[in-house]
Amino acid sequence: MTLVVQKFGGTSVGTPERMRRVAERIVATADTGATVCVVVSAMGHTTDELLDLAAQVSSRPQPRELDMLLTAGERISMALLAMAIGDLGRDAVSFTGSQAGIVTDTQHGKAKILEVRVDRVREALDQGRIAIVAGFQGVSTDANVTTLGRGGSDTTAVAMAAALGADVCEIYTDVEGVFSADPRVVPAARKLPVVSYEEMLELSSAGAKVLALRSVEYARTHGVRIHVRSTFTETEGTWVVEEAEMLEQAIVSGIASDKGEAKVTMVGVPDHPGIAGRLFRPLADGGIHIDMIVQNVSAAGFTDISFTLPKAELGTADPILRELAEQIGASGHQVDEDIGKLSVVGAGMRSHPGVAAAMFEALADAGINIEIISTSPIRISCVVRAGELDRAVEVVHERFRLTEEVLLQSDEFGASPRS
Ligand code: ADP
Ligand code: ASP
Ligand code: MG
Repeated sequence: MTLVVQKFGGTSVGTPERMRRVAERIVATADTGATVCVVVSAMGHTTDELLDLAAQVSSRPQPRELDMLLTAGERISMALLAMAIGDLGRDAVSFTGSQAGIVTDTQHGKAKILEVRVDRVREALDQGRIAIVAGFQGVSTDANVTTLGRGGSDTTAVAMAAALGADVCEIYTDVEGVFSADPRVVPAARKLPVVSYEEMLELSSAGAKVLALRSVEYARTHGVRIHVRSTFTETEGTWVVEEAEMLEQAIVSGIASDKGEAKVTMVGVPDHPGIAGRLFRPLADGGIHIDMIVQNVSAAGFTDISFTLPKAELGTADPILRELAEQIGASGHQVDEDIGKLSVVGAGMRSHPGVAAAMFEALADAGINIEIISTSPIRISCVVRAGELDRAVEVVHERFRLTEEVLLQSDEFGASPRS
């Protein structure tokens, strides 16, 4: 018998009416004879509102209490959804993350799933009931409630699918799948029928929030097939699969953008061996996620080193940077929050040169300055001014003709069209 995990995001259950429509959709699946485990997010902007509430009563809320608060959002959804399904004559039972057996480590706010003790949910499913699991949450090895990081309901869904051995993990959201760029930024973006785990990992880590990064990592490790699709239409969405399963390989599959990072420049750093290690070690030890790095040309024995990190980590990084500047004899550090990063991703890039050149030319033609560049075998990222980010995405999207359903040949990237 088919076993499916269906995850519904915040917008999909944002109002009581939408909640009822989701209930109907779940019941329709169960009516086909499938066993259905549902994972649900908090309604609409509930998580943001709860964060805002916390900020109003405390300047530094304790991580444990913040998690207690935030998990309430998903708890509301799970109960309401179970009620709505009950009204349609089906038996549904809701579970918190803890009740569903989602065991995590102890890092509040970004806990990692260690294990899923799935017995209780399986028992409910075996009894013919629909199990509704609250997304985004678990219980730590020291018995505290934890959350999995923003967008974490995707991870809950994939983890449940892996633990239950589900045939598919369906991620229902407010767009019809994974697109060649965020359809809210590039309205002409094209829905990708399939995308590989590797490409999706790069897109998610580069800011395409349609799937949380951790959920893609988990799916790849456990071989979970993901189908991203719309809550509001029946249209086939995007399948996330092994690269080997893909019949054709696009050189460029998609473009992601991210306004969540800041640029830090360590100014007047003495240019001698070992300095980069001394600079980045304390940041790594402080749990700061450094992304792109660029070291400027040395002048008179001094250099500037710029790098990007999540804006959310600036508060933690600042005292470390202050102390570091003193220790290594730099003149100080500057923070620039007004940047954006765009990334071009495609598995076919590995074997086709010219993608980076074409991307840089497109930006140059649009008069957009590139401040930092970094690459992986299947990704090229550029930092630009935040105000130019959306236009940058658009011109690069156009350059690679991502609206068209064609697999470009590398020679088409050889030169800019104007030359
Ligand atoms: P949910 O609440 O269902 O989890 P999210 O807001 O987390 O939904 O993710 C869906 C959103 O991701 C879309 O509304 C879209 O704006 C954004 N997005 C960013 N990049 C992409 C992309 N490449 N394809 C589709 N959606 C994208
Ligand atoms: N409600 C959580 C968030 O807003 C988790 C999720 O929606 O996936 O991040
Ligand atoms: Mg999401």
